[in-house]
Order: sequence, then C-alpha cells, then structure tokens
Amino acid sequence: MDRRHFLASLSSPLLASCDFERGKPVLEGKLLGPDMALGHKLRDNKFAAATQTQRLPIAIIGGGIGGLSAAWRLLKRGITDFKIFELEAEPGGNSRSGASGTIAHPWGAHYLPFPTVESVNVRAILADLGVLLGDPSAIAPRYDERYVVGVPQERLYVDGLWQESVLPKIGASKRDFEQYKRFDELVERYRRLRGADGAKAFALPSALSSKQADIRALDGQTLRDFLLSQGLDSPRLHWYADYGCRDDYGAHAHHISAWAGLHYHASRDALATDADARSVLTWPQGNGWLVQQLSAWIKQRAPDAFAPQSPCVRLETAASYADIDIYNAPQDRLTRYRADQVIWAAPAQVLAHVWANSPAGLREAATQMEVSPWLVANLTLDSLPIDAGPVGLSWDNVLYDSPALGYVVATHQNIAIGPGPTVLTYYWPIDNEPVPAARKRLYDTDWKVWADAIIAELSRPHPGLREQLQHIDIWRWPHAMARPVPGFLTAPIRGLLAGLTRPLSFAHADLTGFSLFEEATYAGVRAADFAK
Ligand SMILES: Cc1cc2nc3c(=O)[nH]c(=O)nc-3n(C[C@H](O)[C@H](O)[C@H](O)COP(=O)(O)OP(=O)(O)OC[C@H]3O[C@@H](n4cnc5c(N)ncnc54)[C@H](O)[C@@H]3O)c2cc1C
Repeated sequence: MDRRHFLASLSSPLLASCDFERGKPVLEGKLLGPDMALGHKLRDNKFAAATQTQRLPIAIIGGGIGGLSAAWRLLKRGITDFKIFELEAEPGGNSRSGASGTIAHPWGAHYLPFPTVESVNVRAILADLGVLLGDPSAIAPRYDERYVVGVPQERLYVDGLWQESVLPKIGASKRDFEQYKRFDELVERYRRLRGADGAKAFALPSALSSKQADIRALDGQTLRDFLLSQGLDSPRLHWYADYGCRDDYGAHAHHISAWAGLHYHASRDALATDADARSVLTWPQGNGWLVQQLSAWIKQRAPDAFAPQSPCVRLETAASYADIDIYNAPQDRLTRYRADQVIWAAPAQVLAHVWANSPAGLREAATQMEVSPWLVANLTLDSLPIDAGPVGLSWDNVLYDSPALGYVVATHQNIAIGPGPTVLTYYWPIDNEPVPAARKRLYDTDWKVWADAIIAELSRPHPGLREQLQHIDIWRWPHAMARPVPGFLTAPIRGLLAGLTRPLSFAHADLTGFSLFEEATYAGVRAADFAK
C-alpha cells in the first residue's frame, strides 16, 4: 500500500476493518492513554473547596523523569521530607511501560544514548542503578552489557528491501551519497565546534550549549531551509533529516528549528568502554525500566514519598511558601498543602492552567508552545515477524516513506529469544496535519481504524503478519512532547520557566524546550537544588 492509499484508508474505517478480518478470527485490543477523565476534570477545575490544610516542606508535582530526578537529587542531598504528587496511578509519565502477558514493553520512551560527559547527573543515576559500572566521570565509562542494545541494532525497509542502518542506501544515487558525505562532515564540524565561551556548540543537556550568537542564530530557520541553504537537497537526505526530527520531536524538519535539528545529530558524542559509541542503552520495557528502578530506589529511602492519582489542581504562590490543592481521586477529596518549596515537574501548560496568581504573560507564553501528538501501539505476535532477505530482524526496524517511524522488538534484549511470542512497539508521531487537527484525530479515531492502518503498513515488509498477530493495544499521547520550532531558544516561556526559583521551581523537560531523558533529569536536578 503506498502512502496515498494508506492515508486514504485512515478515513475509510469500514473498508479497512472488513479487509483485515476476512476469514480470520476477530482481532482484539485496547485503546489506552493518559487518564482522560481525570485530565478533563482538571481542565474544567470544578472541585469542592479543600477541607483541611497541611504543612509540607517540599512538594514535587509530577512523577515523570523530571520529578523522579528531583526526588533522586533531594535524597542525595539528605532531604527525605517530600512528597511526589502524580496525576496517574503509576509514575513515569512519557517513559511509562506495560506488559503483554509476561513480555514487558514500552509505552513511550524506549532508549537512552550513552550519556555525554556533560550529563553528569544521568551518569550518576545510572551508576546508582547499576547500569554504569565504575567511575561515572570517566571519558568512556563501562556499562552493564545486559543493557547495551543487542546486535543487529537497526535496519531500514526501503523500496521493498531491508538494509542495514537507517541512512537510506538502497536506491540512493551517486549524488545522494555525495550529499550524505557532506552532511556527515557538517555534523562532525558542529560536533567539534566550541563557542567563544568555551562551551560545546551542541551540548547534551542542551542548556550547557554555547550561547554564541551565530550558533544560536541557527534557531531562526527550519532544519529543512538550513539544509537547502547548504546546497543539500537530496530527497533521501531530507527523509533522514525528517526521521531524526520525528524521532525526537514528533515533527518533520520543515517544522523544526535548525538548531534543534542539528542538536539531534551533533550533541551525541559520548563514548563507552567495550561498546560501539553508536549503541544505546535499552531494556524490554524501554525507559520504563529506569522508571521502575529509580522509583524503587526512591521508595527505599523515602517510603511514603509517592502519592498516585493525586493531581495538583490549584497553585497559589506567596513570598516564602506556596499553597497547592491536591485532589485525591480515589477518595474524591481535596487537601490544601502549604509547602516551603514546590518543584513543578508536570508540563508547562498544566502549570499555566492551575497557577492562580501566575506572572503576567505565562498563560499566553505557554499556549504558544507547540506540543506533538503521538500514537504508540504494542502488537503481540505468536512468534518473531517473518521477512525475506539477508538483513536480520533488528532491535529498531524503521520504515522509509511511512507515516510512522517503525517498530522496536521488546524481546530483542532477551538473550534466549526462542520461537515463542514477542511484542513489537510501533511508533507513530501524528504530524501530517496541523496539531489541533492531529490531536482531534487522535481522540476521535477508534481502535479498529488505527489497528487496520498499522497492520496494512506493517504487512508491507511482513506479508504474513496478520496470521501471527494475537492482539494490538494502542496508546494515545495527545500532548506527548514539546516541539522545538524556530525561535524556541528565545521563546518567552523559556525565560519565565527558568526564572522560577523559590518557592516554586520548574522541573519538567519543557524547561529546555524539548523532551529527552537527559533534559528532564537536568531540569529535575536544577529545580531540586533551589530547595533549602
Ligand atoms: C512516544 C514517545 C517516545 C519517546 N521516546 C523517547 C526515548 O526513546 N528516549 C528519550 O530520552 N525520550 C523519549 N521520549 C521523551 C520523554 O518524554 C522524556 O524522555 C521524559 O520522559 C520526559 O519526562 P518529564 O518528567 O519531563 O515529563 P512527563 O513524562 O510529561 O512527566 C510529567 C508527569 O506529570 C504528571 N502530571 C501532569 N499533570 C499533573 C498534575 N496536575 N498533577 C500531578 N501530576 C501531573 C504526568 O502524569 C506525568 O507523569 C519519548 C516521548 C514519547 C511521548
């Protein structure tokens, strides 16, 4: 099915569902996502007044990577007197995971590149969790090999064939290859470049990047326009640039700032002992493993820290304290806490919504942020997917010229992969239309239509897929991640969030304008350091 027919199938649900059920048992699955009922209650903000007020030294709002990193930092500083209030029943936010039977799989974030020398706190967390072995400040640390992605790592399905690596080589012309080489040289130059301030042009975490004006000026245009200005117009190279932007930011290169687009390629320069620098850290449940281990590490030191299904529905700040209203969903009860410090680790747009006396301009600045919607599907198969050709099933299996990115294999990290069942985690940033329309589609489209579209797309490389399928569970992320569009480096929201210190500090990845484990950890640790 070509792209045009595939997109058409999305808008003709009846045809699509009949198609894949003919003569086969009905396929089942669940349509999941963040707690919409609680989220809408939060949006409508109709809660009974709080019946009691309690004192609390430190409140962390949000239990994603930012909130967990803040808690980790507080505990490292010997502070145990805090609570993490989380909207959902489970911590982890976009890095949450699930399981199909006994097979764990991601629902969102699925890997972590080897952390850079600048990612000091990510390295320290990995050392505490036993992933990084030995000295965390080493130039090339050693990692527990169970967590380094197994080979083959990645492949690309292009023009009806699988090839190794994600850069399209099948069907590429001499001109394409010349442009790949020039792009590679350009990225290498940026990787080595330091500003006059001594900082890397593109550091990870991004806040440590050079502030030099001509480097930051790259934020004034899209990555696509930047490539064209360099004489790089190969459609295959542009597909590759799109892939990087969609993978990390959920949008094509014609939406994304050239600074952010180049950051994806030029910032990842970390080394590891006994592993290829291009390998990544991953687990069957993706970064959900890190969430589980970090949560357990926190619980061991602060047993009562977690308050699930307890969103913050109102915030009011004073000079030396902040009042927060926490809605205990299971008990349908509101409690007001007066906290010396509030560490806000939920999205900026939620903060703008609940902060009663927010500074002038915050609401408008938060509304201007673009946030990408995503869909993630977990397909349970009774055996590994079958395909022809010499390039074997990899951990990451990417599709060229597809509305989705492709899939990772949850059982890839299991040393003994047998003939038994597996789970494919399929990633689909919904970015072929303006964000409001894409988000509406995400809400309005039913499970069967998504399932049909996914099966049709994956049946291109795996014609027998339908026969192997046991079920498909689908997760909708309406507000998945901030999009670093041109101008994001100087957007008013950035200055407003970075300016929050006491009694309210900001610990979500929105602080730096794009969503990665390293960015969330940077924000969480920074925010925790404002607590006395
Ligand atoms: C599909 C997908 C794939 C991704 N893949 C990767 C990847 O492979 N590698 C990577 O590094 N990153 C990936 N990411 C990015 C990922 O978002 C970050 O790595 C990281 O998880 C962001 O953490 P955070 O804490 O900043 O935000 P979030 O994950 O957004 O956490 C915020 C938390 O706040 C909670 N919350 C919201 N409102 C309230 C409220 N009012 N009160 C209390 N709690 C509230 C939410 O429920 C959530 O738990 C991916 C994201 C998505 C969506």
